[in-house]
Amino acid sequence: MSNSFLKSPTPINEPVKSYAPNTPERAAVTAMYDTYFSEKIHIPMKIGGEEVNSKETATMHPPHDHKHSMGTYSLATEAHVEQAIAAALEARKTWALVPFAARAAVFLKAADLIAGPYRARIAAATMMAQSKTVHQAEIDSTCEFIDFLRFNVKFAEEIYQDQPTSSEGVWNHVHYRPLEGFIYAVSPFNFTAIAGNLSAAPALMGNTIVWKPSDHQMFSAKVIMDVFEEAGLPKGVINMINGDPEMVTNTVLKNPDFAGIHFTGSTHIFKNIWHKIGSNIHTYKTYPRIVGETGGKDYIAVHNSANVDEVATAVVRGAFEFQGQKCSAASRIYLPKSRSKAILDKIVADVKTITLGSPRELKNFMTAVIHKGSFDRLAAAIDQAKTDSDVEVLVGGTYDDSKGYFIDPTVLVTTNPKYDTMERELFGPIVTVYIYEDDQWEETLKLVDATSDYALTGAVMAKDRIVIENARLALENSAGNFYINDKPSGAVVGQQPFGGARGSGTNDKAGSRQNLLRWVSPQLVKETLIPATDYRYPFMDA
Ligand code: NAD
Repeated sequence: MSNSFLKSPTPINEPVKSYAPNTPERAAVTAMYDTYFSEKIHIPMKIGGEEVNSKETATMHPPHDHKHSMGTYSLATEAHVEQAIAAALEARKTWALVPFAARAAVFLKAADLIAGPYRARIAAATMMAQSKTVHQAEIDSTCEFIDFLRFNVKFAEEIYQDQPTSSEGVWNHVHYRPLEGFIYAVSPFNFTAIAGNLSAAPALMGNTIVWKPSDHQMFSAKVIMDVFEEAGLPKGVINMINGDPEMVTNTVLKNPDFAGIHFTGSTHIFKNIWHKIGSNIHTYKTYPRIVGETGGKDYIAVHNSANVDEVATAVVRGAFEFQGQKCSAASRIYLPKSRSKAILDKIVADVKTITLGSPRELKNFMTAVIHKGSFDRLAAAIDQAKTDSDVEVLVGGTYDDSKGYFIDPTVLVTTNPKYDTMERELFGPIVTVYIYEDDQWEETLKLVDATSDYALTGAVMAKDRIVIENARLALENSAGNFYINDKPSGAVVGQQPFGGARGSGTNDKAGSRQNLLRWVSPQLVKETLIPATDYRYPFMDA
């Protein structure tokens, strides 16, 4: 092994490819999509580097074409979960001792594989599995994932370099040990990059992982595992299993070596897991690290000095890209009465031009929502709005699940700032607007702050600088990521570390140094160069 202190490459955000007609990336991704569509695959579990199959399987279907089968994947029994934990603990014995540069090299190589030979594969798999348009697949499964992998190496290097000072005769150093035990990663359906990063970040710091992807992301989860394997990740460092989430989680959480959870998903599930960890606390050898990024009810608060076109564009992009299925999607909008008609007219005109359909048709701005449960929940919210007297459907309000789970982009306008859809995370293409009297701006900011249990993202749109500063202060605790004159979504790794507080999570900022610090347990070593040989101190001299 090298004795040198290696310097990791300086990360630069991966440029987003355009996929415009006649570009090589467009040809590659559509060809890959067609190949995937013509095949049926089976996805085994990955335990200790081996493919493991079980009797029980589940099927996979593209949300935009739910009668089509993409294939099957194996479901874990309790014994498989135990096997995955054992494999992680076995792998830890060597992985925790591997020098940082070697660990970093695996993930830097993974980033380059995604940027190159795996780019079309991971994007096409994300289009198929999660119904992302090619642009949404590109900014997630390729660019964001690559950025997580490359920037985390730089952040890890900074952590390892952070050493205490030493005084005369003493050398102090800190060893950033991986956590003692294994890490449980539980990922959501909506971001392939998050699914990969939830395991990769703790693994980079020397930990080993049991990873449970979402049932609705399995097809692209397989590509993630293929990339890690191709990059040289040793067997057992990341073990992928799926199965009944309750059973898998309960089995993991009763294990004494459980050392931490890296979770992204909905708030109620995270709270439930936290509760179970608390109940099992006497079982564990160490206090587990609990890191969770969860739901949001993200707002745009518009002042009457804001620009109409800028507001309308922020709402349409913020609310409807990826069918509103981003934790950061704009879902409650506060408009001043004097500008509301102009803004809403522009939003309605824009929404009427949005095309919905398969991501294979690249002209579409939106595709289907993830599954029947989501479709039914959104359709029910729309139906309810049609009957409630304090809300009207301004545009949209239609849906059709005959081929795929399609919900048309829908704008609701309510006279009740506490209307259900102003408070509840719907996770779909429904945005609710509340119109306030222009002279009620400060009261409206209090309303924005107090309306939801979440505090993930939010935006203020205004021209007046004093207004912007006052709004930032008034809304300080209402968002972990706060935007000025922008939509509240689209965080870029290395530029806008992401996470929220209150009901939205532990705010450990994915893709940052702060997140990586959760996966190490520092050990301070004080070495005395010439130890004392007499217990007496000078002050004791006569
Ligand atoms: P989800 O909560 O339904 O599922 C997340 C994961 O939890 C999945 O792997 C699922 O199988 C697992 N799970 C389900 N039931 C469980 C149980 N009883 N015990 C243990 N695990 C269980 O979320 P989703 O629909 O996949 O994703 C959408 C949610 O994720 C939204 O609430 C969204 O806001 C949130 N999200 C947050 C962020 C963020 O950074 N804050 C990012 C992405 C998604």
